[in-house]
Amino acid sequence: MKSVLAVIIAIVLMTIILPMLLIFSCDIAQPSIEIKEPQVSNEVFIRVYRKNSQRVEEIALEEYVKGVVASEMPASFEYDALKAQAIAARTKAIFQKIKYGDAGKPAHPGAEVCDGVHCQVYKSKEQLKTLHSEAWMRDFWPKIENVVEETKGLVLTYEGKVIDPLYHSTSGGRTENSEDVFTSMAPYLRSVDSPYEQESKHLEDQVVISTNEFITKVNNSYKKSGLTANNIKDSLEILQRSEGGKITKMKVGDEVLTGRNIRELLGLKSANFKITISGDSMTFTTRGNGHGVGMSQYGANGMARNGYNFEDILKHYYRGVDLEEYR
Ligand SMILES: [Zn+2]
Repeated sequence: MKSVLAVIIAIVLMTIILPMLLIFSCDIAQPSIEIKEPQVSNEVFIRVYRKNSQRVEEIALEEYVKGVVASEMPASFEYDALKAQAIAARTKAIFQKIKYGDAGKPAHPGAEVCDGVHCQVYKSKEQLKTLHSEAWMRDFWPKIENVVEETKGLVLTYEGKVIDPLYHSTSGGRTENSEDVFTSMAPYLRSVDSPYEQESKHLEDQVVISTNEFITKVNNSYKKSGLTANNIKDSLEILQRSEGGKITKMKVGDEVLTGRNIRELLGLKSANFKITISGDSMTFTTRGNGHGVGMSQYGANGMARNGYNFEDILKHYYRGVDLEEYR
């Protein structure tokens, strides 16, 4: 009887338990294979209209920012000024990407930015190599890469929305309220002091032209001015200046023009100027370089030299903003 029981146990072991153990051990031994998923990249791309080739290029955001920093600010500037510029450049591209969506900016459909001053200047690394010396590439390109990488993804927001971070070369001592230069009022683009611009070559500039040239240019563009060589001295008057010093209203004969009108007419560096007439010549003494709204680049560099970091600089020139990571 015992031997029959032993045979039964042996049969059970061989037919049921052993195969089960084998299957179990095989399960452990087999490596598991995960089915492939589609690759999702969260890298942001910027569509850039290249003026020379008249094509739209898709460029990874951080690469694009490097090409803007290298083109928009001297690479010899302080580290924190370059970091502030990197964040402003990134914010500008994202602001336009959000604002214009798939259609792109109307001036260059299908692209949120172009590579010129119309948006912000961008040059590829290859272009920079042909523009600059080998020493520049060796000394400054890694510096630009570093400032962009160290600020990776950071953008400026106001009440949670990405801002339009206007910037310019030199304010001339005080920046402008956005509505005094452009049509719209932005709460973060307020007139603020810009006390550290001494190194700018354009803190003060002079343009001298003959009174006849001035009269011809004004009359060609503003037919009703009625300016003549005889009445010019009594026909010019500055009626109003903005908080930042730009001329917002100026009597020019029978016309009322802005400093910006005169700036565009004569190619002046800024709309903040004084005029002196001496004999047959007129001297326009300008302060600053550019529209004067938002961050002053020379002011940013001066602040960095005086110990301010990129966050101090950005929060000085853009009021009430926060730094956030764009995803
Ligand atoms: Zn553009």
